[in-house]
Amino acid sequence: MEEKASTAIAGISHDRDSIINLDHGDPTMFEPFWKEIGDSATVVIPGWQKMSYFSDPRNLCWFLEPEFANEARRLHRIVGNAVTDDRHIIVGVGSTQLIHAALFALASTEARQPVDVISAAPYYSMYSGIADFMKSGMFHWAGDAATFNGDDNFIELVCSPNNPDGEIRHAVRGNEAGKRVHDMAYYWPQYTPMRHPADHDIMLFTVSKATGHAGTRIGWALVKDAEVARKMAKFIEMNTIGVSKDSQVRAAKILKVIAEGYELPDLEAGSKFFHFGRCLLANRWQRLRQAIKVSGRFSLPQFPSEFCMFFKEQAETYPGFAWLRSEDQTIEDLEVFFKTLNILTRNGRQFGVGPEYVRVSMLDRDANFDVFIKRISSLE
Ligand code: PMP
Repeated sequence: MEEKASTAIAGISHDRDSIINLDHGDPTMFEPFWKEIGDSATVVIPGWQKMSYFSDPRNLCWFLEPEFANEARRLHRIVGNAVTDDRHIIVGVGSTQLIHAALFALASTEARQPVDVISAAPYYSMYSGIADFMKSGMFHWAGDAATFNGDDNFIELVCSPNNPDGEIRHAVRGNEAGKRVHDMAYYWPQYTPMRHPADHDIMLFTVSKATGHAGTRIGWALVKDAEVARKMAKFIEMNTIGVSKDSQVRAAKILKVIAEGYELPDLEAGSKFFHFGRCLLANRWQRLRQAIKVSGRFSLPQFPSEFCMFFKEQAETYPGFAWLRSEDQTIEDLEVFFKTLNILTRNGRQFGVGPEYVRVSMLDRDANFDVFIKRISSLE
């Protein structure tokens, strides 16, 4: 059926048998860096180690491995992307679990009505599902923060840089009494200039997008308020009785290797992870923008270059996703259009906007990205 549809689109000449899945943001593009690094990022855990449930019984987050917490703080200090002083670290099974935990911690168990969960469109497609999945009586999804007209009883999810469009975001409902969670999964130097250390009440990070280790399933929250932090830890206790120590040890090692790439003076240039990531993304964005320009059918967001406090120079923005918009009157549903090219993308509707938009992962392996560029370049 897809093949039939594709014959209706003029000018596609090459083989389209293989399906390229750029729907998910699977960050496999970072694999070559870790291959090159080799054994120095390898972790070995003897059979008798890390057996207990407990990591640090004195910490309110008793399942947080101290070495992971230390490495997370160290990397934030080197990169300058977040304030960690006087913050509690809560580790989670990816930042996905921490979004659930933050909603639980900010909503009231006593309230008669569920609190409204909002985020400005286009918003990360998982937010609505996360808010409504358990049909909780404590919170529910209430849609686009920009058009929300409820009262002060809300939680705004602020994703910055934003998934899907890469914009730097501030809370839309900034001055009101509601509560906020800042999802900073992409606030790392390979994606965007580091402007200043972020200093919000709850900030979420994840190794998935920071280092590419999505399979390790480790995220962390920097939380100002002890009571909120305690409730988040309680949620994780009730949900998974803590977070894999093995994964935390691996994540600690990965963060440490990145930190050493910048702190140890005698390491060669090839061991600088953020330089590697930025260089690869810069090349991909340059090729994508060129292909889009030639085709004339789509548009992409534009970003001003800004001074990056980490690279100490003017730097461009290279988001982890391309947020494509159809500029062709004959293409109403861009996801359907890309399907005819055997390229899977995520429909704008899932982000609270129209089907003239799609999100395309920029984080896949080179081979898949090359096919994607080849296919859009062959459109007439
Ligand atoms: N927040 C944002 C904005 C994301 O893009 C993702 C991953 N796609 C997550 C949270 C969740 O990441 P993980 O659970 O892998 O840490």
